[in-house]
Amino acid sequence: MKLPSGRIYLDFNATTPLAGPVAQALECAQRELFGNASSLYREGRDSMAALLTARERVAALVGCEPGEVIFTGSATEADHLAVASALHGAGPGRKRVLLSAIEHPAVFDQWEAVERSGFRVDEIPVTAQGVLDLVRFEAQMGEDVALVSVMAAHNESGVLQPLEDVGHLCRRYGTLFHTDAVQALGKVPSPWRTARPHYLAVAAHKLYGPKGIGALAARHGAPLVPLLVGGGQEGGRRSSTEAVPLAVAFGAACDLAGEALAQGGRLAQLRDDMEHRLRKDHGAVVHGGAAPRLPNTSFFSLPGFSGPALVLALDEAGVAVSTGSACHSGGTSGPRVLKAMDVDQGLMGSVLRVSLGRESERQDTETLLSLLPAILNRLKGGPEA
Ligand code: PLP
Repeated sequence: MKLPSGRIYLDFNATTPLAGPVAQALECAQRELFGNASSLYREGRDSMAALLTARERVAALVGCEPGEVIFTGSATEADHLAVASALHGAGPGRKRVLLSAIEHPAVFDQWEAVERSGFRVDEIPVTAQGVLDLVRFEAQMGEDVALVSVMAAHNESGVLQPLEDVGHLCRRYGTLFHTDAVQALGKVPSPWRTARPHYLAVAAHKLYGPKGIGALAARHGAPLVPLLVGGGQEGGRRSSTEAVPLAVAFGAACDLAGEALAQGGRLAQLRDDMEHRLRKDHGAVVHGGAAPRLPNTSFFSLPGFSGPALVLALDEAGVAVSTGSACHSGGTSGPRVLKAMDVDQGLMGSVLRVSLGRESERQDTETLLSLLPAILNRLKGGPEA
């Protein structure tokens, strides 16, 4: 996908542009749906009606009931709402929390606060392919576990986690189960009905919707303690005047995502072909390449080269890729996921993430591949090709 600037964008896991119909829906709602959704007069009722429709659309993509959707300001907030609610609602004998070792910082970095509130937090390890180690997980489980948090798909490796097994074990022990489905929703089918988590977090901006809105799907009956109290919006579960235009756009994005799910095979083919060439021509090591993955994501190391230097050189040549999660870009210690996968230290600094989007074409990956030899040569200090 060439941007209007002529550049090629290959970092769709960081964020996505607004889809055309979503931008139109947002613009129209900004203009027309300014009424406060809590107001009794017509402008308020119109906003409330639009909010209800948006909620139904998000629920349809998640697979939950509309009443189970709580709009939030972000996925980070949704993750916090889930963890806080689960811990608040945990029975007295449940004092342990299990988090996968590869959770996004929106979950992982709550660890210290969770421990301060009297819980013991343990990491669930992953295999060398970045998949949750189910044997170790089963050994860690017990009736004293209040909450298990395992993401649906990793934002950097794209590796899909065995959520059905996780859900099964959580039910066996009566443990609350949260999944961060921010990267999965809209790329693969929602795990809501198959894995049956109690909480599932999503962000609009990862599926061609606007920034500034996310949602938590919280199963009926699961504990829910609001982080924000005040005007009692969202059924008292998240106070603050509803961002109706953002919710409308989020709903429109979910409608489109349902249609776009069918594109997965095409993107996986593009990704696999690109990885084949990267391995063959440049000795790339693909992380999580043998695991089930999101169809759009490739996470690989080019041994001997600096990931940040490659990102900057590609940027200069008009191609946007990343070294991993936007939250970690610029970090030098190597992504936590690679450490959890026990990847060789030497490969950590040379990692790149290419994540394709709905409008990505073969031309995009071909351009990337055609630029690489000269860039690698230059970075090696060789003569310009
Ligand atoms: N969870 C995952 C898996 C993500 O990839 C991200 C964003 O990159 C988040 C949570 C946080 O989303 P946001 O920054 O939009 O709140």
